[in-house]
Amino acid sequence: MSIPYNPSSPKADEFINHDEILDTLIYAEAHKNDTALINSLLEKARPKFNEKGCTCAGLTHREASVLLACEDPATIQRIYDVAAEIKQAFYGNRIVLFAPLYLSNYCINGCLYCPYHTKNKTIPRKKLTQDEIRAEVIALQDMGHKRLAIEAGEDPVNNPIEYILDSIATIYSVHHKNGDIRRVNVNIAATTVENYRRLKEAGIGTYILFQETYNRKRYEELHPTGPKHDYAYHTEAMDRAQQGGIDDVGLGVLFGLEGYRYEFAGLLMHAEHLEAVFGVGPHTISVPRVKPADDIDPDEFNNAIPDDVFTKIAACIRVAVPYTGMIISTRENEAVRAKMLQVGISQISGGSRTSVGGYTEEVRPHDTEQFDVSDQRTLDEVVRWLMEQDHIPSFCTACYRAGRTGDRFMALCKSGQILNCCHPNALMTLTEYLEDYASPETKRIGYEMIERELTRIPRENVREIAAKNIEAMRNGNARDFRF
Ligand code: SAM
Repeated sequence: MSIPYNPSSPKADEFINHDEILDTLIYAEAHKNDTALINSLLEKARPKFNEKGCTCAGLTHREASVLLACEDPATIQRIYDVAAEIKQAFYGNRIVLFAPLYLSNYCINGCLYCPYHTKNKTIPRKKLTQDEIRAEVIALQDMGHKRLAIEAGEDPVNNPIEYILDSIATIYSVHHKNGDIRRVNVNIAATTVENYRRLKEAGIGTYILFQETYNRKRYEELHPTGPKHDYAYHTEAMDRAQQGGIDDVGLGVLFGLEGYRYEFAGLLMHAEHLEAVFGVGPHTISVPRVKPADDIDPDEFNNAIPDDVFTKIAACIRVAVPYTGMIISTRENEAVRAKMLQVGISQISGGSRTSVGGYTEEVRPHDTEQFDVSDQRTLDEVVRWLMEQDHIPSFCTACYRAGRTGDRFMALCKSGQILNCCHPNALMTLTEYLEDYASPETKRIGYEMIERELTRIPRENVREIAAKNIEAMRNGNARDFRF
């Protein structure tokens, strides 16, 4: 008997509905050359400006799947153009920076693509003590980071929720020189409403959980053992996070495990589900691809996607879910990241180490790494590179500290006040970076950019306050200004 499709249902198989995805793929294939439909979709998706700000209609999973199926280069370019237009309208030319912090690689799951899987006896297992976390945080602060994503394997004995909560408290407690970690996002295994509530109380930013694959059958094959085997428990995790009070949740697919068109439709259905039930879509969407790692060979997964398709996926996500932040990590190299930044990515990691304890080691350690890092540049190099391409590196963490989470964040996005709020926040946090951590060349390029960008702040009083705060940081130790 077929399972009904219902975006508002609490049941995974109803809101991520296999038959609906298959129908969507057939519909997309049948309409991929329908010029009139494609034109109307692109027109619908484009930002519409009015006196109150800017709105974007987004696209449904069916509509966006038609765009994803397009193969005509001129049409693909138009999709890229609309994606860039949307990114510019809501996020401007800012790119938010963060780093992952790996706490522990103990894991009791059997995920076939991940080197932390329980059968891997070659990878050294390591869990940071609170003193080691302090040392890692100092190293991250000395690079200039203000925002972290903590990562851990699933292991109730070695990494219980109390360990994660203690670690978050430790991270927030470290203030080294002018350093501060002001936002801790959390990427740990699916858990209970009660544990999500405790994470919220610990002051986390976004709760991130990658679905890996939306195809139940494939999911069960790839997760043969351990608690992660339970597809429904994993897929319904964001609902429990919302029930626990976390209204900023981050979705993601590990591209390469299953056909990308299937994953894309599933991902958008997940976003539609959150919107239907909680009135707010995902805060972020990540687009990781499977990478080589200790005892993992990506060639064993026969759904690898080439770079041009990967870019098209990102652009179609941007067009379909306009208000959502989009994240790309150092799994991707410089060239891919540059291309992805043009089609809607709004957050990137920089200077990352994916090994447990990696930031305190002089030489990049490989033995406990979760995956190979393709972009091995320092944070300073990434910051300079962003500015050379006219992106403003932002270390801003203001929104959640000011209570602008969930639908309040989305309201800010839609109000068009970004140029009066996020833009000056980016300039002020970039100033902190330039003063405290940048190389002389980065600093020079940075201040040229800040001079130029200050003139773009529309409201005069905001522009004056931002300029005054920037001067205060340049002339002394005052820090942490925000709107
Ligand atoms: N253990 C947590 C869980 O089960 O969701 C999350 C932490 S895990 C360290 C973070 C993510 O890394 C996983 O969700 C997976 O998508 C990704 N990952 C695992 N193996 C990978 C690989 N070989 N290449 C790229 N990404 C990988």
